[in-house]
Amino acid sequence: MREPLLRLSNVETFYGPIRAIRGVSLDVHQGTIVAVLGANGAGKTTILKTISGVMDPLKGAVVFEGREIQGEDPDRIARAGIAHVPEGRETFPYLTVRQNLLMGAYARRDRAAVPGDLEMVYGYIPRLRDLSQRVAGSMSGGEQQMLAIGRALMSRPRLLLLDEPSLGLSPRLVGEVFELIRRLNGETGLTILVVEQNAGTALATCHFGFVLELGRIVMEDTCENLMAKDDIKEFYLGMK
Ligand code: ATP
Repeated sequence: MREPLLRLSNVETFYGPIRAIRGVSLDVHQGTIVAVLGANGAGKTTILKTISGVMDPLKGAVVFEGREIQGEDPDRIARAGIAHVPEGRETFPYLTVRQNLLMGAYARRDRAAVPGDLEMVYGYIPRLRDLSQRVAGSMSGGEQQMLAIGRALMSRPRLLLLDEPSLGLSPRLVGEVFELIRRLNGETGLTILVVEQNAGTALATCHFGFVLELGRIVMEDTCENLMAKDDIKEFYLGMK
């Protein structure tokens, strides 16, 4: 099998004395959608922060495209091709949609390609073109989630990290966000690592899933298989 695009090996990350993730090992293969599922506080956000360099692991390795990146600055990791859409979206509220999108391309060297990528984002998320002159802070939660994803795409990532994209959205909007995730992966081959509490929607979208409990991976399988296991759905994922 080919080397994974991203590999976490035995990663441990702490908040002071609190060990938030405990010996986590996981692979993300090129061109796949991978989900990390688990309850509140399981450590999902910490895994993404550890990958994007917002937090440094105390132990273990994070290998992206064959290179160890743990301990590097978030800025360097972003330039290496990893875009992180954090929980709560964190768009720039006083900037317009277009300005927010262009901020996503700030580190790009190939400036000439930026207008084309703006069109690509508008093509995937037409609502952003309609709202391009609106300030982000005046938009709905779903629109801001779409904007945060669009802004991440403007950096032309090879790996997109999404933290709870369904949080606070109506079921219809959750459907739209996950449809966008499916299309981006299916049409551009973008590799996506998504963490979610909304296990049903994530399992219906992902190829491979990891179930996290109290900082440890307790189960890993194809999403199809995870979907088929009623006990997993009930005990770990809070689904009936
Ligand atoms: P949520 O869905 O609520 O964000 P999560 O699965 O993403 O949950 P994390 O946010 O990664 O979980 O938290 C993992 C553990 O680390 C939890 O026990 C949490 O209480 C703890 N933790 C998170 N942030 C901090 C912090 N800033 N200081 C201390 N402990 C923290």
